Amino acid sequence: MSWESVIGLEVHVQLNTDTKIFCSCKNEFGAEPNTNVCPVCLGFPGVLPVFNKRVLEYAIKVGLALNCKIASYTKFDRKNYFYPDLPKAYQISQYDMPICESGYLEIEVNGALKRIGIKRVHMEEDAGKLIHEKDYSLVDYNRTGVPLLEIVSEPDLRSPDEAYEYLTELKQIVRYLGVSDCDMEKGSLRCDANISVRKKGDTQFGTKTEIKNLNSFKGVRSALEYEIRRQIKLLEAGETVIQETRLWSAERQITIPMRSKEEAHDYRYFPEPDLLPIEVSLDMINNIRKELPEMPRERRHRLVKEYGITDYDANVICLERDFADYFESCAKVCKSPKRCANLMITILSEKLNDLGIDISQLKISPNALAELVDLWEEGKINNLVVKQVLEEMINTGKSAKDIVEEKGLSQVSDEGELERFAKEAIEKNPKVVQDYRSGKKNAVMFLVGQVMKATRGKANPQKVRELLEGLLED
Ligand code: ADP
Ligand code: MG
Ligand code: ZN
Repeated sequence: MSWESVIGLEVHVQLNTDTKIFCSCKNEFGAEPNTNVCPVCLGFPGVLPVFNKRVLEYAIKVGLALNCKIASYTKFDRKNYFYPDLPKAYQISQYDMPICESGYLEIEVNGALKRIGIKRVHMEEDAGKLIHEKDYSLVDYNRTGVPLLEIVSEPDLRSPDEAYEYLTELKQIVRYLGVSDCDMEKGSLRCDANISVRKKGDTQFGTKTEIKNLNSFKGVRSALEYEIRRQIKLLEAGETVIQETRLWSAERQITIPMRSKEEAHDYRYFPEPDLLPIEVSLDMINNIRKELPEMPRERRHRLVKEYGITDYDANVICLERDFADYFESCAKVCKSPKRCANLMITILSEKLNDLGIDISQLKISPNALAELVDLWEEGKINNLVVKQVLEEMINTGKSAKDIVEEKGLSQVSDEGELERFAKEAIEKNPKVVQDYRSGKKNAVMFLVGQVMKATRGKANPQKVRELLEGLLED
C-alpha cells in the first residue's frame, strides 16, 4: 500500500523590537531573570496594555513578504488558560481577524517551485519561560509580552523534506526582513508540526496529530519521519490514529502522547476589551511595501545572472543578507566574481567559523578582499597561499599585495626555475617515473607534490603538472 503524508506547520517567531508588545519593558534575550518586567507584563490588576506600533509594521512586512492579504481592520482577542507562565491567565492574541491571511511561500521541490499556502499570520504576546529543575520549577517573566508572530501554513506539505525546506525558506525570508533572528536555540523561532497520512489518491485528509517540543529543523524532520511510520503502522494494523498532541523526545527519537482531543483546552476567546481595534491604512501598507528588501529567492537568481556564479554558490551566498551584501560589494570591484564566490564560501567561511564571528564583524573591507581575489585570479598566488595571506590580512590588517611581497609568497612562475625543480623530482624518483611510463598516469601527481614541496607551495600545480608531463613524454 502506498501512503502519502500531509503536513501543516505552525511557526512562532519572536520579533526583535526594542520593547515588548504592550508595555515599555525592554525586549532582550539573556537578561538576568525577572528584570525586564513591570505591572503590565506581570499582569497586575488594573493595568492597561498599550500597543507597540512597531509590531504592526513588522507583521505587515512579514505578511507582504509571504504574499498575504493585509487586513484593513484587525483586532486583538483574549485566549484564556491557566498556567504559571501566564500571569494574567489569558494571552492577548488574535482570533477571527488576524492581520494577514491567504498568502503563500515558494519552496523548491525536485528542481521545481511549489507554493505552500499561508493560512494566516497573527500577532500575540509570548508567555513567560518555565525552567524545570529536578523537584521544583522556576519562572522567568522577562519573556511575557515579547511580541510574537504566529505563521500558520495550509496543509500543503507532503513530506518531511518539504517541511524542512519550508522552514529553511521561511527563516531566510524573516531574517532578510530583519524582524527576527529566528534562532531556534534561543527560542526566537519555534515550530509545532501537524501531520496525518492517507492512501495515495485519497482526497480526504486523515486524522492529524500535532507534535510539540521540536527544537531544531532536523528535529522537525526526524519527528515527522517517526510520526509517519507510527501512523502508517497503526492504519495498516486496522487501528485508527487518535487526534492528539504529542511531544518529540530528541533523546529517544520518538513521539509520546501529551494530551488528547478531549483534554484540549477551551480557550473561551473573546475580543480584548482593553485595546481598540486597529485600522490599517493603504498608505501604511504601501510604505512598508516600498521598504521591503529583495527576497532571497530573487536575489539568488539575480546573482547567478549578474555575476555568472553557479546556483550552488548563489544559494550559499544568499543564506545571510549581509554575506550576500559583502559578496556583491567585492564582486563589483574584483576581476572574477566566480573566484570571489569560491573564496568566500570556502576559505573565508572556514575562517569566520574558526574565529566564531560573522561577516559583519570581519575587519577586512570588500575592496581589500577584492585585491586578494585578483592576485589569485591573475595567477600571482596559488590556492595554497590564498589561505595564508587571508589569515595574515585578518591578523595584521595589511593589504594582500604587501603581505605577498613581504613574505615572498608570489607564485614561482619562472619557467626555468620550475623546470629545474621538475627535473630534480624526475631524477630523484626513477621508480615513479617507471610507473608513469608503464601506464600509471596518476603517478605524475606524486612528482607534482615533490615540486610543490620544493617550491614551498608557491608553484602553480596545474602548470607543474603540464611541465612534468612534457618532460616525461620526451
Ligand atoms: P486546529 O483547529 O486543530 O488548530 P487548524 O485548522 O488551525 O487546526 O490547523 C492547524 C495546522 O494544522 C495548520 O498548519 C494546518 O495546515 C494543519 N492541518 C490541518 N489539518 C491537517 C491534516 N489533516 N493533516 C495535517 N495537517 C493538518
Ligand atoms: Mg490552530
Ligand atoms: Zn512590562
